[in-house]
Amino acid sequence: MAGKLIAGNWKMNGSVSFATELVEGLLGKLNQDSVSADFVVCPPAALLGTVLSLTKNSDLAVGGQDCHANVSGAHTGDTSAELLKNIGCGYVITGHSERRTDHGETNADVNAKSAAALRAGLTPIICIGETEDERVSGDTLSVIKTQVTESLPDDCDPDSIVLAYEPVWAIGTGKTATPADVEEVHNFIRGLLNDRFGEDGAKKIRILYGGSVKPANAAELLAVSNVDGALVGGASLKVEDFWAIGAR
Ligand code: PEP
Repeated sequence: MAGKLIAGNWKMNGSVSFATELVEGLLGKLNQDSVSADFVVCPPAALLGTVLSLTKNSDLAVGGQDCHANVSGAHTGDTSAELLKNIGCGYVITGHSERRTDHGETNADVNAKSAAALRAGLTPIICIGETEDERVSGDTLSVIKTQVTESLPDDCDPDSIVLAYEPVWAIGTGKTATPADVEEVHNFIRGLLNDRFGEDGAKKIRILYGGSVKPANAAELLAVSNVDGALVGGASLKVEDFWAIGAR
């Protein structure tokens, strides 16, 4: 496995001028400092062209926030994985909890979208995570088990996927899971991956933590065993914050 992966999910934020400033700021940092982490930004679809034209031949990777399961067709408003690949993306987020909630995406949908990403040659960042009710009821690990089992495509190559554990109650709320909570779930996920891919396969899969990651808590969270990076929302919208999360 390579170094940590720090992925920025801009969600539905930004503009051409905002994206230009943010990406130019990150590229400036990448050129100056040597960092062991890999950085990827996932802007809204309408800003992918702007971001890709700025990041050409750079070390800053770009991803979509969602893709359709089909290659093409009558799906107004959707974007195929093939098109994301064609314009230069390397990644796509699948199964983000906001897609699961806002668009009713099920594990089966996430599985199909992740399979589409792999078919197109993209790395899916497959998101899973329990709601607050599920945590309070003590169901976290069983929810995670179902999501991992059902959301990962059947024949996927462990080299080509990334998982992101994002407790839904920690996303955009300022609440962060404790390092002990994160460790428990990440170790559990690694165990599920070991069962499915064998230890050699499982260790190739980066498991990101997401949920109110910011410079002040990043070092502690990224030091937890089996945390191979972070999926960052709010803090990915500021050059200094996003950079500080990964550059250590
Ligand atoms: C996210 O959007 O995946 C996320 C984790 O958001 P935030 O960092 O703002 O909680």
